[in-house]
Amino acid sequence: MRVAVISDIHANGAALDAVAAAIDRVDVDATWSLGDVVGYGPAPNECCALVEERCAIALVGNHDLVALGDLGIEDFNDDAAAAARWTSEQLDERSRAFLSSLSPTAAADGCELFHASPLDPVWDYVLSAESAYASLLETTAPVVLVGHSHVALAIGLAEDLHGGLASADAHIELEGRWLLNPGSVGQPRDGDPRAAWLELDLDARTARFHRVEYDVERTQREILEAGLPPALAERLTHGV
Ligand code: ZN
Repeated sequence: MRVAVISDIHANGAALDAVAAAIDRVDVDATWSLGDVVGYGPAPNECCALVEERCAIALVGNHDLVALGDLGIEDFNDDAAAAARWTSEQLDERSRAFLSSLSPTAAADGCELFHASPLDPVWDYVLSAESAYASLLETTAPVVLVGHSHVALAIGLAEDLHGGLASADAHIELEGRWLLNPGSVGQPRDGDPRAAWLELDLDARTARFHRVEYDVERTQREILEAGLPPALAERLTHGV
């Protein structure tokens, strides 16, 4: 069983197109999405349609829930809130129905999946060794997959904790238990502006992190044309 794991697309159509093309060049059995299909970016309906079509498992994220009106907007900063209001107006019936049907957690093929973390599947950020350890204690599956932080991460637990940030093209043998974050397709925050995705081979027990160049300027143009906050365009240049 080989799986492509994607997360935090954030309505970045150009980035999702590039990642989908990269996944198509590798032979996987399924694609799983860890949530935040929309929010921040200019192409919410296109991204919902692509995820619905391609993903055997899709989770809902906090930005999806805020855009649906199922979660309050008060925890968002000004730019995120402005984008959430814009997204809410843009979402068509089909996208709403799709996002509304999703859960922030799932389990399949020896993996437990969470948008954010096992402690709080919608809001908690796993960015430290301590929080990764707490997440692994809260679960039993050999592989725990999380998104939400937009930072690619691979932290393993055997005798002790090991690992940390996952660099582009990092290749990991999945001995013991692992917490993995594929990084973000549409708004990376680890200083590498390229779109991120993760390739899992659950039989060979390996994980390979990937980064893909995409047309950042196309997304930036679409953000500005949509009247979304310019800072949301600017940050894509730097991957922050
Ligand atoms: Zn996100």
